[in-house]
Amino acid sequence: MKRAYNFNAGPAALPEWVLQEAKEHWLNFNDTGMSLMELSHRSKDYEAVHNEAKELLTSLLSIPDNYDILFLQGGASLQFTMVPMNLLPKNKTAYYALTGVWSEKAIKEAAKLGNTVISVSSKENNYTYIPNPEQIELPKDAAYLHITSNNTIYGTQWSNYPTNLSVPLIADMSSDILSTPIDVSQFGIIYAGAQKNLGPSGVTVVIIRKDLIKEDNTLPTMLSYHTHAKNNSLFNTPPTLGIYLLSLVLKWVKQQGGIEGIANINKEKAQQLYNVMDQSNGFYRGHAEEKSRSKMNVTFTLPSEKLTKAFLQEAKEVGFVGLNGHRSVGGCRASIYNAVPLEHVVELAKFMKDFQNNHL
Ligand SMILES: *Cc1c(COP(=O)(O)O)cnc(C)c1O
Repeated sequence: MKRAYNFNAGPAALPEWVLQEAKEHWLNFNDTGMSLMELSHRSKDYEAVHNEAKELLTSLLSIPDNYDILFLQGGASLQFTMVPMNLLPKNKTAYYALTGVWSEKAIKEAAKLGNTVISVSSKENNYTYIPNPEQIELPKDAAYLHITSNNTIYGTQWSNYPTNLSVPLIADMSSDILSTPIDVSQFGIIYAGAQKNLGPSGVTVVIIRKDLIKEDNTLPTMLSYHTHAKNNSLFNTPPTLGIYLLSLVLKWVKQQGGIEGIANINKEKAQQLYNVMDQSNGFYRGHAEEKSRSKMNVTFTLPSEKLTKAFLQEAKEVGFVGLNGHRSVGGCRASIYNAVPLEHVVELAKFMKDFQNNHL
């Protein structure tokens, strides 16, 4: 069997090693005579997996001691609600950087719960760039600043984050967590749905500074960070299979030389595609401004709607999966998350060059 050239935006490619490893233990995990999915979430065997996932994430991201890791459900989308529910008191205002559809959705949820202000925005330019973090100013009544570190749909990514903030920085890192080194201590909360860079859908990772976890009995129990932190994310049944696969993905990242190793490959992968675009004399036009380009989602269009269609059709015929742009922007998008092998990106770069030569 040949693995597909999978450029899906999410759920997305998983490392082949992870799938093989899971397959090997599918029917009989740890000599229990059961699959992992059949184990009690209170069993020693499962708890070891759960805690190993936390330990691996802690070591890969050098997460400081004053942070907790939570494994939740409801996707990144539920974090759009949980963040303001837990962190936005009535007398304060939440500030949001508006850099794409996911930040729009995050603000919309927060606005249902309290005061929100758009701090900086690239909406007027169809989200082609990331605002300068130096421009961000927060008044005294700010509760937090929320950013979307990588804009999956538009293909833009923050290359440096706002610093010296007086309030916690909250980042939706769903589409670039673990792709490049970060300094976790710059953030109050980092959250990510797993299905792009961390594993299958169904588990959401939340890395939260402990002083932001407050007991508040007025909150619904399941929507309080305190509930999950206090119970090691075992208050109720966690998505055990997803957490197991996450632990395998983290092992795989470690095998690749950790985040530094992964980041080098990611740089090379992105370079492959951006080079083709930059050397195409405008045949491939990037959606993102050069300095805001994402290393995870490469977005582009061709000179005409007709050529864009032909490109997507031919690409599909020769086996490239998932290259259609998001329905809100159109065009093409190659999502090249951690698990997409360099060789697949090299093949795509070659295809792009050939397509251009054949259609000049
Ligand atoms: C995919 C994505 C989401 C949505 O995640 P769900 O897990 O489907 O809720 C949110 N934010 C970003 C940046 C994403 O890429």
